[in-house]
Amino acid sequence: MRPVLTAHPVQRRAIKRLLVISQAYLLIWLVLAIAILSGNAPPLVWAIVVYGVAGQLAFYAILRAGFTLGRADPLLCFPQALFGAGAVVMGYALVPFGQGPALQTLFVILVFDLHRLSSRQIAFVATTTVAMLAAFVIVKSYVNPAGIDLRQEALNLSMAVLVVPLLTIVSGKVKRVQLRQIGQKAELDRVLGELETLSKRDAMTGAYNRRHMLELLDAELKRQRRNHLPFSVAMLDIDFFKRVNDTHGHAIGDVVLKQLAAIAGASQRATDSLARWGGEEFLVLLPESAAGEARAIIDQLRLQIERHDWAQYAPGLQITFSSGVAEHALAVSLEQTIELADGALYRAKETGRNRVEQA
Ligand code: GH3
Ligand code: MG
Ligand code: MG
Repeated sequence: MRPVLTAHPVQRRAIKRLLVISQAYLLIWLVLAIAILSGNAPPLVWAIVVYGVAGQLAFYAILRAGFTLGRADPLLCFPQALFGAGAVVMGYALVPFGQGPALQTLFVILVFDLHRLSSRQIAFVATTTVAMLAAFVIVKSYVNPAGIDLRQEALNLSMAVLVVPLLTIVSGKVKRVQLRQIGQKAELDRVLGELETLSKRDAMTGAYNRRHMLELLDAELKRQRRNHLPFSVAMLDIDFFKRVNDTHGHAIGDVVLKQLAAIAGASQRATDSLARWGGEEFLVLLPESAAGEARAIIDQLRLQIERHDWAQYAPGLQITFSSGVAEHALAVSLEQTIELADGALYRAKETGRNRVEQA
């Protein structure tokens, strides 16, 4: 179907819609052709068929060429509705006993595009059609007063006039429902985005949570199998944090955790990731970094934390952390690498704290 419909999604929608309408037209043309050939309609009715076929071909050519892409009405709904209204007027005027079906067709055309056309466009199509029909009735009543049933025509036209404001109101309602749906979708997207953040991040510090870090580590592992670039992990643990809580209170302990996460988050490279691994333990993933480079980066962070003005949160408060860095080797598992980092962290604690040890 690609040569007919093209690959562009909007163009495909437009042409598919045109093909659906063409099927309905085809049925009408068939009925008209049978009526003409069986002598039940004058040959002049062929004009409706020619008008319809030519119009559908022209619309196809315009849509297929892509002229309407990026325009306000890329499906050409409004011109097609107007075009259909033209066919309705011709059917009303030319086909014997065609008045009823012609008016019904007008309503079908308007309802078909109720959600795509604006209330104003619907009112415009309906009013022009009714005006053309009225003009036809007036002209015919002068030219051929004997061949016209004025009571019937008046009934037909007043029905059409009645339906115009009704359709305009319904169209406005449909629009409002559509707008509300669009608003609800935006709200849904926002909530989904929030949920995603909540599921990935630790609520207190804003750093990634352990679960998401495990996903990031897994992704890094797969990347390494492809590009063979080294990556490292660093386990960070705040020194004497129990004492911070005991001396300054749990609330200050929380402030320290948040501040440390904020400083570490701001100082890291864009590709590095920080996660809260446990209570006062953080894990940093350093992609494309061998152990030496990773250690240098974490040591810089260590200095930054040591030099931060912690006394602003509580008098006498001083914070340092110890860290163990391990580079992941292809031959071992991720758990083993994390254990190695843990072992190095333990050594950093044992040998005096406020240090970075390499596995
Ligand atoms: P070390 O230098 O050996 O790591 O000593 P430490 O006191 O930091 O080590 P330890 O693991 O014994 O203590 C960790 C403390 O962290 C205990 C716990 O109360 C505290 N902690 C864990 N999570 C939180 C938290 O969310 N908020 C606060 N304020 N404290 C926490
Ligand atoms: Mg600890
Ligand atoms: Mg600690």
